[in-house]
Amino acid sequence: MGGAGVTWNVTGDVYIDAVHVRKAEPSRMACGCVHFTSGARTAGHSHAVGQTLYITEGVALLGTRDGQVIIARPGQVVYTPPGEEHWHGAAPDEFMVHLALYEGTAHGDGATWLEHVADDQYKAAVAALEAV
Ligand code: MN
Repeated sequence: MGGAGVTWNVTGDVYIDAVHVRKAEPSRMACGCVHFTSGARTAGHSHAVGQTLYITEGVALLGTRDGQVIIARPGQVVYTPPGEEHWHGAAPDEFMVHLALYEGTAHGDGATWLEHVADDQYKAAVAALEAV
């Protein structure tokens, strides 16, 4: 998986349509339309220059390194500041689509990848949301 110039580490099936591929410097902007199948999620990661997600379909789960989880639905925007460790993915029983907008650095796409979100961690995130 992965659109042009994009490499994502994921659990489950995730497909990326490139909306805007980074051009020659000084351009560093990129945008992908990311399709997650149910239960699919990124590994933990951070973005050197931050990231804006715009949810277009389904139900998105977003988790931070300290275990906080939020839910986002179509039309909602979630901004992740530079360097904040997080993951994003679909709810367990439906697909999710979001636009991901971010700027790279002089050296690449600016993403730093961490460990995968294990099944028990994902289930705990879902349970935490259902308990609200
Ligand atoms: Mn991200």
